[in-house]
Amino acid sequence: MNPAFGLVVIGAQWGDEGKGKLVDLFAAEADAVVRYQGGTNAGHTLVVEGRKTVLHLIPSGILHPGKRCVIGSGCVVDPVALAAEMDELAAAGVDVGPDRLLISHAAPAILEVHKRLDRARESSAGDEKIGTTGRGIGPAYEDAVSRAAVRMGDLRDPDRLRARIEALLFEKNVLLRAHGQPEFTTECILEALEPVRARLLPFLGDAGALLTSLNEAGGRILFEGAQGALLDVWHGTYPYVTSSSTVAANAAVGVGVGPQVITDVLGVTKAYATRVGSGPFTTELNDSIGEHLRRVGREFGATTGRPRRCGWLDLPALRYAIRINGITRLAVTKLDVLRGVDPIKICTHYRWRGRTYDVMPTDAASWAELEPVYESLPGFSEELANARTPEDLPPAARRFLSFVEARTGRPIELVSVGPGRNENVLFAPRAGGRDGRGEAP
Ligand code: GDP
Repeated sequence: MNPAFGLVVIGAQWGDEGKGKLVDLFAAEADAVVRYQGGTNAGHTLVVEGRKTVLHLIPSGILHPGKRCVIGSGCVVDPVALAAEMDELAAAGVDVGPDRLLISHAAPAILEVHKRLDRARESSAGDEKIGTTGRGIGPAYEDAVSRAAVRMGDLRDPDRLRARIEALLFEKNVLLRAHGQPEFTTECILEALEPVRARLLPFLGDAGALLTSLNEAGGRILFEGAQGALLDVWHGTYPYVTSSSTVAANAAVGVGVGPQVITDVLGVTKAYATRVGSGPFTTELNDSIGEHLRRVGREFGATTGRPRRCGWLDLPALRYAIRINGITRLAVTKLDVLRGVDPIKICTHYRWRGRTYDVMPTDAASWAELEPVYESLPGFSEELANARTPEDLPPAARRFLSFVEARTGRPIELVSVGPGRNENVLFAPRAGGRDGRGEAP
């Protein structure tokens, strides 16, 4: 058996980097695949043998027969949506039994009331809206912190479940009234849960205990990040962030294992940049190139269908993601989408009030005023989908990748050139970190 490892695969941008595909790829070497934050707001699109599967909460490892999949207590779980996702997988012939999937009984549940409140807030906010998915994620996390949450384990005990919902609605209904929305009754929430409650009970358990013993026995754990580093609630472009901590260190917190279980952090970045919803985006392209990237890259949300904002690759933002996550190596996705774009621009640093920034500043006052400074690289016109080794790539594509490595100080280990599981160029593993081949982030 390989030595134990704990690999975190993290989105190094604003999400939608194609992490799902990479997790699916690495899952082959792992014993367990784990989600540690977020809820059904994630949307991993996987294409396996030409069949498209969209996963929202269940770890991508589920598509690998026999892999253990875990939803940690740092996630928020919508029991009804989870059951629907299981049904969808079953219809596609994927076995999702309690021997495959463990759901932490400490994970907060998302209830109908959270979804209504989420949507009510967004519509009340008008132009100030965050651009949430309306799936109740934020309100469910708020309840976790205010100690009001109904947790998945509460589904085991109908009396306790009723009492917890009653207590929760006391305040939630006040908020709904303030937004001009109808209130909820306890009965209504219970009725929505009833068809799935008993079915989910066999899946509930102690995620931290399972993963700690797996790690102690030499097991290999893959932590699957959702959203992206720049959407972290503490370290992202606040307030245009998700409601959980997306950074690598939270992988340990979100499942209940010690931090030393994490041995490696792979950062996933597209060859360009996208962002969904509102918030700062320094390299955004509101022109025909942005339109081209959106069309060729099919940049529409997997969960909501919303068009994504598109722009050039932003190295100061990527260096920031490397710093806050401890990223040791990179994977670059969607390089094929840049085909025909000439020249290809890369933002190497920012200017703000007479100063130069190599790394994205955390001072929120700067974000709307950062001025991107670009370098132009030659484009390529060759089809990339069949490239499997670095030598198969056109020189301009290799140059682009070397540029990113040199300017981030992190080795690129994999380049994705198409949506399919095998459409990748693998680079020989090299030492991560400050290896002298470029400026350190
Ligand atoms: P995730 O949430 O980070 O997994 O990202 P999404 O699933 O929202 O977005 C990734 C999308 O891009 C999916 O539709 C993938 O099938 C697709 N995709 C992933 N890698 C590549 C690639 O290298 N090239 C192209 N053209 N599409 C890709």
